[in-house]
This record gives sequence, structure tokens and C-alpha cells, in this order.
Amino acid sequence: MKNKIHKYDFLIIGAGLIGAIAALALVKKKFKVLVLDKKVELPNDDRTLAVNANSIDFLKQLGIWNKLKSQPQPIDKIIIEDNINEKPLIFENDDESMGNVILNKEMSKVVRQKLVNLKILKIETNIDISKILPDKFILIDNKNYIFKKVIISIGKNIVSNLNHKTITFDQKHQSYVGFFKHSKDHNNTAYEFFTQKGPLAVLPAPSGNKKKSTFIYSSKEDTDKYQIQKLINKKIINTHGKLIFDQSISKFPIIPHLIKYNNNFLYIGDSLKSIHPVAGQGWNLGIKDIQTLCKLLDQYSLDEKNINSFYYSRRIVESSIFLGFTSILNFFYEGKNQLNKEIVKAGFTILRKVKFLRDVFIKQAMGRINLTD
Ligand SMILES: Cc1cc2nc3c(=O)[nH]c(=O)nc-3n(C[C@H](O)[C@H](O)[C@H](O)COP(=O)(O)OP(=O)(O)OC[C@H]3O[C@@H](n4cnc5c(N)ncnc54)[C@H](O)[C@@H]3O)c2cc1C
Repeated sequence: MKNKIHKYDFLIIGAGLIGAIAALALVKKKFKVLVLDKKVELPNDDRTLAVNANSIDFLKQLGIWNKLKSQPQPIDKIIIEDNINEKPLIFENDDESMGNVILNKEMSKVVRQKLVNLKILKIETNIDISKILPDKFILIDNKNYIFKKVIISIGKNIVSNLNHKTITFDQKHQSYVGFFKHSKDHNNTAYEFFTQKGPLAVLPAPSGNKKKSTFIYSSKEDTDKYQIQKLINKKIINTHGKLIFDQSISKFPIIPHLIKYNNNFLYIGDSLKSIHPVAGQGWNLGIKDIQTLCKLLDQYSLDEKNINSFYYSRRIVESSIFLGFTSILNFFYEGKNQLNKEIVKAGFTILRKVKFLRDVFIKQAMGRINLTD
């Protein structure tokens, strides 16, 4: 049987939180899918994800949401403060929670198990992606495969791994992530503090008693856990009470980028674009990549030769808007000159006064606005 050719609709390279979910969505649509990942073990990812309302609906359809047992925490209110404006900016939504905070680790485990059960995951430690092309023979495990479409979902490694063209917006930020317990309820409120050295987000973390939170602090300046803890204490002692921090803090490099169009591949998740975590939207946009691809597959046959370009043109607008918005936001807050401060002040004032604009912001963050479909 050595010469047998295994014919598939999709090859997905990268079984992270986006590649794996894309595979489940495509299998649900009855496509034949194979997923490759280079790592045997799941990453020890100590982060949380603020999953927006649109992504929750999608996870429910795929039977993933109901498998998360560690109590996702709804976000009912977002308070934004900075050192330029006297009053905070407050976002609230009456109809439904703006999102829910979950543990990355837990969702990774759930989706990975589904791939294993479906027998569609292969761990290949030596894949040379540069040799893989759609509609060409590929030797995997001594077997011959041919795939109609190749999806790249290897995360932001795309920048260093391959010769695929990208535009990078490297602001040299690192993100520091950790957890703490507190004596008062978090009241399902998320906070974003724009400090002079970088943004600090404090979000409710999965727990049974509403007395656990997580933080994401991003800065280009070197710092340590004691400085970060001091900053958090200063910002939320009044709302959260006495704080007890977990010992460990994880550090993540931030390299915002956008890939240029390449006719051979469909890029999804952080491989298409990676944005600064200040808006907590990177993964949610990855879910929209999958949804867009699924919608296109409802409209066109897989043999339609323009499908890659249709997909790219539908995802590029929103990806660029988020990449631009998050990069500019940090740029304005980091700039020390008066003009930057005036621009921030004007933006804050307009958003505080105009409810319609605030509502558009909220709906966009919840994934309830489709810019291109
Ligand atoms: C601190 C921080 C907080 C964040 N918080 C949020 C949030 O609250 N909400 C939100 O929406 N987003 C958030 N994000 C963004 C989110 O984490 C990412 O967008 C998301 O994890 C990207 O998933 P992915 O599957 O595209 O990439 P990854 O999770 O990086 O997965 C890539 C996969 O590809 C595999 N791989 C890599 N190279 C190869 C190769 N050559 N061959 C085969 N396999 C390969 C890897 O092993 C891995 O399994 C945050 C990001 C950071 C840094």
C-alpha cells in the first residue's frame, strides 16, 4: 500500500487554540481534515482568554463551551482609566455579558482531546513547511498525501519561521501575566489602566467565589514582579481589597504583525495577524477568521480557485483595523508630548459623551459587528 495516495480537503499546520478549533469546524462541515503540530505536549499556557459573545456562540455550536468546567467569569462592565483624564470611561451592555474569561489551558485540553478522538491529529516534530504546497504530493510518516487547501496556523512564529511576507509593528513590548486572590468581589468588572509605562488589564479569573483575578501588564521597560504587584495594589486596593499574589508570573513577547497575501495558503489566527493584547481580541479575531472561511465554503466549492483571495480580502479589513488601533493606542499613551495627550483627551471625552459610539465599540468588541460579510 506504499503507493496509495491519501486525498484530503484540508491540511491544517498548527494545532493551537485556533488551528484545532478550525479543524473541528471544518470536520463539522464534513470536510476531510488532517492537522499537524510540531509539539507533543500541550503548551503550559498560564493565560486567560476574554472570550467575546460571538466566540462563545461559536464554541457552543462546536460543543466546546459546555465542556469548560472551571467556571468562566462573565464581564459585565469595563472601566478604563488613565493618567490624563480625570474621569474613567465605562462600558456596559444591557442585553448580554460582553464576554467571559476562561483558562487557556483548559480549552486547549478540551479541543486537543476532540482532535485525538476524531483521529485527525498527527504530531510531526520535523515538518518543513516550506516544502508543503496544496495539490502536490506530501510525504508524512512515509505515506503519500495530497491536500486541496493548506491552512497555516502556527501562531506568531510565522514571523521568524518562514519566508512568508509580513508587516511588523514591533513596539518591543513584553506582556507579564499572573493571578491574585482578593478579599472583595470582582463584581464581574474588567479594568484597563493606561499607565505611563504601559497598559495594565485586570480581569475576573475563573473561580467559584469571585475573589480571584488575573492581570496582563505590557511594557517595553524592564520590570519585575514586585514592581508589577506594587502597581496593581495601588490601582485596585479600593475595589478589590487585600491582595494575595500567586508566586509565578509568565512573560510573553509581543510582535504585532500582518501577513501579506500568498495564494498558496490560508492563514488564520496569529499567523494571519497578531495584535497587542491591550484589547484582548487576538484569539476572538481568529475565531472570526474561521467563521469567514466557513461562510465562504457555504458559498463556493472548494475547487473555486479564488477562494484564498476571497478569504484574505474579507479578513484583511478587520485585522488591519485592530492591528492599527491597538498599535496607535499604545503609541499615543507612550508619547510624552502635549499633542498626544490632547488627542487622548479628545477621544476619551467623545466616547464618554456619545453613547452611540460607546455602543458601537462594545458591539465590535463583542464580535457582534461584521465589517465585511
Ligand atoms: C498576554 C496575552 C493575553 C492575551 N489575551 C487574550 C484575550 O483575552 N482574548 C483574546 O481574544 N486574545 C488574547 N490573546 C491573543 C491569543 O492568545 C492569541 O491570539 C491566540 O492564542 C493565537 O492562537 P493560535 O492558534 O493562532 O496560535 P498559537 O496558540 O501560538 O498556536 C500555534 C500552534 O502551532 C504550532 N506550531 C508552531 N510552529 C509550527 C510548525 N512549524 N509546524 C507545526 N506546528 C507548529 C505550535 O506548537 C502551536 O500548537 C492574548 C495574547 C497574549 C500574549
